Amino acid sequence: MSFSKLGLSEEIVRAVTEQGYNAPTPIQSQAIPAVLQGGDLLAGAQTGTGKTAGFTLPILQRLAHRKHPAGGTRRPVRALILTPTRELAAQVEESVRTYGKYLKLNSAVIFGGVGIHPQIKQLERGVDILVATPGRLLDHMQQGTIDLKYIEILVLDEADRMLDMGFIRDIRRILAALPPQRQNLLFSATFSDEIKALADSLLNSPAMIEVARRNSTVDVIAQKIHPVDRNRKHPLLSHLIGSRQWSQVLVFTRTKHGANKLVEQLCKDGITALAIHGNKSQAARTRALSEFKNGSLRALVATDIAARGIDIDQLPHVVNYDLPNVPEDYVHRIGRTGRAGASGEAVSLVCVDEHDMLKGIEKLIKRSIPSEVIPGFEPDPNARPQPIQLRSGNTGGRNQARQGKPADKGTTRSPAPQKSGSRPAPGNKSLAPAPSPKRRPNERRKDAA
Ligand code: AMP
Repeated sequence: MSFSKLGLSEEIVRAVTEQGYNAPTPIQSQAIPAVLQGGDLLAGAQTGTGKTAGFTLPILQRLAHRKHPAGGTRRPVRALILTPTRELAAQVEESVRTYGKYLKLNSAVIFGGVGIHPQIKQLERGVDILVATPGRLLDHMQQGTIDLKYIEILVLDEADRMLDMGFIRDIRRILAALPPQRQNLLFSATFSDEIKALADSLLNSPAMIEVARRNSTVDVIAQKIHPVDRNRKHPLLSHLIGSRQWSQVLVFTRTKHGANKLVEQLCKDGITALAIHGNKSQAARTRALSEFKNGSLRALVATDIAARGIDIDQLPHVVNYDLPNVPEDYVHRIGRTGRAGASGEAVSLVCVDEHDMLKGIEKLIKRSIPSEVIPGFEPDPNARPQPIQLRSGNTGGRNQARQGKPADKGTTRSPAPQKSGSRPAPGNKSLAPAPSPKRRPNERRKDAA
């Protein structure tokens, strides 16, 4: 199967070939013809399956070969792609530009956390394909700086995440402002009742596609558990990075505070590290990601939400410094490695507090993960589990400030690195018991990431 056989024009096939893609992925070979036909689509696909090109390529084709309806020189938005996070929005728009480089279509991305005026200027100049996070799009709608009258195609990308993040009301308000006659594409990794209800109300006799979930394709990823005491995770991680000479490792922590603290500790050990999470400014996150991608940063420490949609090809190492609260997140996390056929390694540092979480993960992926104790880091056999702190005490900088902690808006990078292998003070408090936060499941997090 080749891209040209799917009915894509020469300009699009050329752009895709330049990216080194030889053949469409399963989601692409099913979604592209379906979208080209013009009907609605319900697609079950996770990040890493090639889903972005699956909807971007046929959208480019459809728009490129139809005249824009408003007439005149100003180009109204004709395709709207909604994503849950800023990172994903930026990456999707980059894909639109890459795949559409030989076409005369304009694209733009709008998300919160950055100035609105450049976005207004860009919209005024004319945009065919707009990628947006829901919160900032609503801001533009309220200010009257966007015209949605000419939308022909709507994409909800990672719809399950949007609902998890409390965007359902925002999405409904946006849907209500769109012209009723349009093509709707809904992409979601999971199908909860809430997603089914959204799909029922949004889609008209949709084509349905589901590609293998990542939790059935985890075979290419070597997974391992290193049992360790809760206060020795950091020295173990530094030891692994140093002794195995990992040059690019994505590390997941459960909380933003845990991410910041780990970055400080790694830097003290001489390992360049930055954190990426919802309290970081957009500029800090973009910088961390680009330093990590270009190899100048050895460790990128991320929370689950911030890491959603991070697209880094062939990432060799993923470390679960803390196991995720939700077993599905384990699959999302390790899916960052072993992409597009490359092999990868996912390592989890598991302390006694996390044994139940581990059981949940193993049940989900239907296998037990091999365990290896690293000499010098043997866990205390008499250790008792303690309750786990699920969040950094809160969801955002505002709330942290209320607790007397400033919202950190910069990147956490420690001062001059010290000798490699130094040990932290005993008693890592990040897993200490704490009351669970009181956030309602659907409370809105503004353009959270
Ligand atoms: P996505 O699931 O859209 O996040 O894409 C995952 C990764 O796969 C991205 O890095 C794409 O550049 C890459 N990719 C998408 N389509 C193909 C393809 N047909 N062949 C090889 N790699 C691809």
